[in-house]
Amino acid sequence: MNIEAKELSKIYGQGESRVTALDRASLTIVPGDFISIMGPSGSGKSTLLHLLSGLDRPTGGRLTYDGKDIYGLSDRELSAFRRRRIGFIFQQFRLLPVLTARENLILPLLLDKKQPDEAYVQELAGLLGIENRLTHLPHELSGGQQQRVAIARALIARPDVIFADEPTGNLDSRSGGEVMELLKTVGKELGKALVVITHDSRIAAMAERRLSIVDGVLSEVKAG
Ligand code: ADP
Ligand code: MG
Repeated sequence: MNIEAKELSKIYGQGESRVTALDRASLTIVPGDFISIMGPSGSGKSTLLHLLSGLDRPTGGRLTYDGKDIYGLSDRELSAFRRRRIGFIFQQFRLLPVLTARENLILPLLLDKKQPDEAYVQELAGLLGIENRLTHLPHELSGGQQQRVAIARALIARPDVIFADEPTGNLDSRSGGEVMELLKTVGKELGKALVVITHDSRIAAMAERRLSIVDGVLSEVKAG
């Protein structure tokens, strides 16, 4: 799936409280891409990721998935599209505390009234090293394990692209490094495009394409 963002902007507020969180960002994402986007706190990273993934709508610009204008969809159509085609990983994991790891993992399918493919659940759990943790509740898991469950959840509906917003931001550097390696490996293994936001230069350097964002302005980082 080819994703094309053209001059996406997001302006919050009006008058004196007006903030340009994102200023005409353009970006093309093709299958198999591994892109990192780095920038300081408040630079517009989350805003960009929310717009690219249809979690939010821009105040200007266009976004197409294989030529289809995503913001032309109703909210209901857009959430269905997101559930089926887009995986999202949050810094805070966002697992439901009363559900087991397995229940959290398959939740996107249940919301779509689909039955999980047991072989795929096991494959993902194996790839992410959580096969012995599936009956546990989130609070019985380490941060790294919780994030691995969240990665499996992002992959369960077989989306084309995964967006991750500071996926290692709540982890110590060792488990953060492990989680990023896994995310990269699993993304390659399953042929997903991966877009990772980070403020950690070591994590940004793992990507094949690097972008940076400063004061809402997105630019490509040249290799070298
Ligand atoms: P980052 O993820 O890089 O830390 P964000 O994308 O969250 O940055 O925020 C970019 C800018 O937009 C910041 O100045 C932030 O305060 C502002 N902002 C984000 N969300 C809102 C909102 N809902 N209302 C007003 N301003 C916002
Ligand atoms: Mg953010």
